[in-house]
This record gives sequence, structure tokens and C-alpha cells, in this order.
Amino acid sequence: QEMILPDKTRLVLGYVDGVVVEDEYFSTKNVLPERYMSTDQQFNLVVLTLFVNEYQYGYIIFSLDAIDTLIYETLRGQISSALKSETLYEQRRVAEEALDKVVDQLEISNAKFHELSIRDELTGLYNRRGFYQQVDKFLETNILKDKSYFILFGDIDGLKSINDAFGHREGDYTIYTTAAILKNNFNEDDIIARMSGDEFTIVITRGFTEGKLKKLLATLEHAFDEHNSVAKKPYKVAITIGYAAFSPDLPDSIDDMIKVADNNLYIEKAKKRSGIVKE
Ligand code: GH3
Ligand code: MG
Repeated sequence: QEMILPDKTRLVLGYVDGVVVEDEYFSTKNVLPERYMSTDQQFNLVVLTLFVNEYQYGYIIFSLDAIDTLIYETLRGQISSALKSETLYEQRRVAEEALDKVVDQLEISNAKFHELSIRDELTGLYNRRGFYQQVDKFLETNILKDKSYFILFGDIDGLKSINDAFGHREGDYTIYTTAAILKNNFNEDDIIARMSGDEFTIVITRGFTEGKLKKLLATLEHAFDEHNSVAKKPYKVAITIGYAAFSPDLPDSIDDMIKVADNNLYIEKAKKRSGIVKE
């Protein structure tokens, strides 16, 4: 295979008059940098190409002073092999580095995709899938036997009329606002999700008493009132919540608990409609 000669050759390493020289470029046509060619005395050079099979690495020049000329061929062979190993090693290193980068990026994308797949776009809360995933994680790892836990089921009040009277954007804003108020009033490690349309579930993962929960719900209602008085919208943002207690000793399925909470929500909605004010 013919080697296409580059215009410039790089002197990678040289040993000239007892001095090591390196990293120098010169015109390939000269074969050797001119300053190493003595003009005042005769000299003989052996020029050998460095190659292994079809791979060509350059050439090596010896001044012809060894007695046994076989030594040049041996050195040529050894240096060529070393260059081949080095080239292969470098190629592998570059390939591995590229692969590492791809794997890193893939991991980042995977994490992003996963995060997207468990989040609700409008509110940033968990979606249904995220909710069940987080609940499963919680049930597997965190449950404390002597505590009670609560699952809350909430539904925004009158979202249909808000949509109808003020448009879908205001409806979306109502959902977004509700989510924000929920986030503000529950703990970071409570599991809050938008299950569908205007329905939310919350699992209080701290272990709670019913008394504490009632206080929390009162605070939550106050937070909605606060928002409404500040926002001054022509409609009110409000949520009705039903809840169910579950204890690790009574391992009802989470869906059963949601049903109980949903039923209690329905009772609360009916109370609101008939104008019964909470005690
Ligand atoms: P209620 O007080 O009984 O809960 O009455 P509601 O008007 O809130 O009605 P309901 O909860 O039965 O239905 C929820 C409505 O929310 C139905 C749908 O038109 C609306 N909705 C659901 N998803 C979205 C959404 O993503 N954006 C908006 N703007 N509206 C939605
Ligand atoms: Mg509703």
C-alpha cells in the first residue's frame, strides 16, 4: 500500500550528538532537518520505514556506524511494534472515552425521561403513575408499625363552572393554584399527586393522629381563603377533601383506601352543597 507523504514531517524523537531532540517539524522532502546534516564531513545514513503489516508510522534514520547492520532491522521492527501497540491503545482509550460520554448522557436522559413520566406537566406534582410508584416505595421501606397513616382524596370545587364562565385557562390556573397550595401545606416527603382532572391524592407519610390531620385540614382551608382574598378573582379556588386512615397492621390495599377516602369526599361535597358548614 502506497503511503501518501505529508508536506511536513515531525521529528518525534532524535538522538543527535548525545542530545535528545524532539517535536520539530520540517519539510518531508528534506528527509532529515538540514541542521543535522553535516556539511563538512561525509556521513552515511540508513533510512528505514516504520510499519507493521499494512500500517505505516513514518520512518527512522540511523547514522551508519554500528558494526552489525542487522541491529537496524531489529530496532526498526521493535520500534514499529511499539508504535502499533501505542496506536491501538490510544484508539481504544479514545473509543472508551466516547463510550463513557454516551453512557453518561444516556443516564441523564433516562433520569429525565423517568422524571417526566412520573410528573404531571401542569402542576409538577406526581401523576397517577408517579403516585403509585412513590406509595409502593413508601410501603416497602418506610412503614413504622406503631403509627397510623392517612390517605387524602381531594377534588376542586366547581371547576366546571370556572371553565364555563371564565375559560379553560382560568380552569388550568385553578388547578395549578390548588397544587401550589397543597405543596405549601404538606411536607416534602408526603406524597402529593394529581390523579386526573381536578382530583388529588395525598399520602401523609409521617405517621399522624386524626386530631393532627383535622388541624392540618383547617390550616389548608385557611390557606385557600388567604389565596382567594389576595388573588381577587371573580371566583373562589377551593377543594373538598375526604380521608381514610390506614395502619400497617391492617394492610388494606391502597386502592381500597382511596375508595374509602373518595366516599368520604363525596359526603363532604354533599354537606357543602346543602350548605352545612363544617364544625
Ligand atoms: P364539584 O364541585 O362537584 O367537584 O364540581 P366540578 O365542577 O369540579 O366538577 P367535577 O369535579 O365533577 O369535574 C371536574 C371538571 O374539571 C371536569 C372538567 O371539565 C374539568 N377539568 C378536568 N381536567 C381539566 C384540566 O386539565 N383543565 C381544566 N381547565 N379543566 C379540567
Ligand atoms: Mg371538582
